Amino acid sequence: MICPECGSEMMPCNDPLTEEFKGEMITVKGLEYHRCPECGETMMSAGMATRQAKDMARQWAELKGLLSPDEVKEIRKDLGLNQAQFEQLVGVSRPTASRWENGASVQSKTADRLMRLLRFDRRNADVLMERSEIRPAASVTYSFSPRPRDSGKTWPDKTTKRIVEVA
Ligand SMILES: [Zn+2]
Repeated sequence: MICPECGSEMMPCNDPLTEEFKGEMITVKGLEYHRCPECGETMMSAGMATRQAKDMARQWAELKGLLSPDEVKEIRKDLGLNQAQFEQLVGVSRPTASRWENGASVQSKTADRLMRLLRFDRRNADVLMERSEIRPAASVTYSFSPRPRDSGKTWPDKTTKRIVEVA
């Protein structure tokens, strides 16, 4: 592979790669790419670039104390909502939820706090669903129990968990 910048032969490389993401320098390990030994230019496949972008978004969210893409997805699924319904509930446009969940973008602090309230107490979601006339896509059975603080347990646990898996 020839470097598009200087024309030198690029070499396969899997060193940790550090790039700026939203004002922070983020290092991603485990990427396979080509680097130019002369000018330092790098090239990678679209798949690797996606992986790098997702990992940078995940690390950035962690750095800023925001919910991770997996946590966002878990909150939505625990509410029994599909992405379109969840977007309606939170008040964002399509396809924001899928972008949060696959790490293509990171939620605002405001959206992050709203989602934490939805996770903390199911009744917060019920209030918003009633207002927006949202019905969960899957039938969901809940008995409310507050999330145990720092218990390390997943919540809802088996006794409160939804009966039907959400597709
Ligand atoms: Zn070069």
